[in-house]
Amino acid sequence: MTERGYSRRMNDDLRANVAADMPRLTRLLGDLVRLPSVSAPGYDKAKVRDTATTIVAMLGEQGFENAQLLEVKGGNPAVFAEIPAPEGAPTLLLYAHYDVQPPGPAAEWETDPFEPVQRDGRLYGRGSADDKGGLVMHLGAVAAHGGRPPVGVQLFFEGEEEAGSESLGAILDKYSHLLEPDVIVIGDGGNWEVGVPAFLTSLRGIVGVSFELRTLQAAVHSGQYGGVYPDALTAMVRLLATLHDDAGNVTVPGLVSEEIEGLEISEELARKLTRVVDGVEEIGTGSIPSRMWSRPAISILALDAPPVSEAINQLVPVARAKVSLRIAPGQDTMSALESLKKHLVENAPWGTKVEFFHEEYGDASKLDADTFAVEAWAKAFTEAFGTEPVFVGAGGSIPFIATFKELYPDAPILVIGTSDPTSWYHAPNESQDLGDLEKAALSEAIAFRLLASG
Ligand SMILES: [Zn+2]
Repeated sequence: MTERGYSRRMNDDLRANVAADMPRLTRLLGDLVRLPSVSAPGYDKAKVRDTATTIVAMLGEQGFENAQLLEVKGGNPAVFAEIPAPEGAPTLLLYAHYDVQPPGPAAEWETDPFEPVQRDGRLYGRGSADDKGGLVMHLGAVAAHGGRPPVGVQLFFEGEEEAGSESLGAILDKYSHLLEPDVIVIGDGGNWEVGVPAFLTSLRGIVGVSFELRTLQAAVHSGQYGGVYPDALTAMVRLLATLHDDAGNVTVPGLVSEEIEGLEISEELARKLTRVVDGVEEIGTGSIPSRMWSRPAISILALDAPPVSEAINQLVPVARAKVSLRIAPGQDTMSALESLKKHLVENAPWGTKVEFFHEEYGDASKLDADTFAVEAWAKAFTEAFGTEPVFVGAGGSIPFIATFKELYPDAPILVIGTSDPTSWYHAPNESQDLGDLEKAALSEAIAFRLLASG
């Protein structure tokens, strides 16, 4: 009998358990989608907290020990629960985040963002993939072992990931006596496509600045004075336009930029994934994976300006903007932030002064793919999905990975997940493929077994 056939039979019990558990896991995912745990500024923090409390109660009912909120002042709580390791077995920290992105424009949702809807093998709703799917994956893997996995598990569900993980360092610090991971499993990555699992091994970082440009102390009539001194919006758009060259490459000096070899994403798929409007051209140079994962990218996230419907004939005195810069792995975060600020200050037109009032940042990271944990998980992936995993980068950041790396330098970090490119996480009509959720939970259950036996 081949080794593969042997191991397949070995794990048939887990395969059957996860399959039998899918109706419950799907219901659970739906129940979580109903909890509007939006962590963005301006949304009700009480709802985020309520979600955390509900999850703590649910974990207690499911036989986890020590289920509790981990809290520091001012931030959203994280949820913790554990099942101690059997003698000699390693302990896995299983990360997911229970907070979600805001729903965005209501008109673009085909169904209510916070009402789960099952259609064509997918569950729709905000957070269904990012990252309540990841959370349910962890619970499904533990349940596949009858709630007593052959490894120790420590659940850590964050409540601020979508808002920049600001309290995370403080939470990990305050509760460091609780957390003792031998392996850290970040369930907030995703599959390469439906049915093809992936490890994320590099992530771009992010820096962002919000700033103001003022040209007048107050608005004045644009007919009377227009043409003598600039309005703030004209100055602002000129400044923002200096961030890219004509081809759409980032012009800020001093940023790391690399080319990725070996993986390609077709223009057709990229157009579909990004929902780009017909006729709009690509920007920047280099392969699409490079532009997504290993080159800097700048986006204008927001502009404070009078709404068009309320426009009057005046020189707008002040404008505000928020600019986001994605940084490549290998880029020092603070030097990127300084480079961006310096560029904005030096390019402000007509003697205007940039006043920064907010900045944020998260480190880029590269993960070691050559560890026993990745090896075991790759075997589990291959068995559960029937196809080998791919190693990919990500354009987005998971800012706290660097924090975990620093705190637990000896623990391998795996970034895996349940979503796929058509999950439209962060966008309207987010959804989770339920077949992939099942395979992801099964992979994790098998991985527990492989890691337990060394
Ligand atoms: Zn996420």
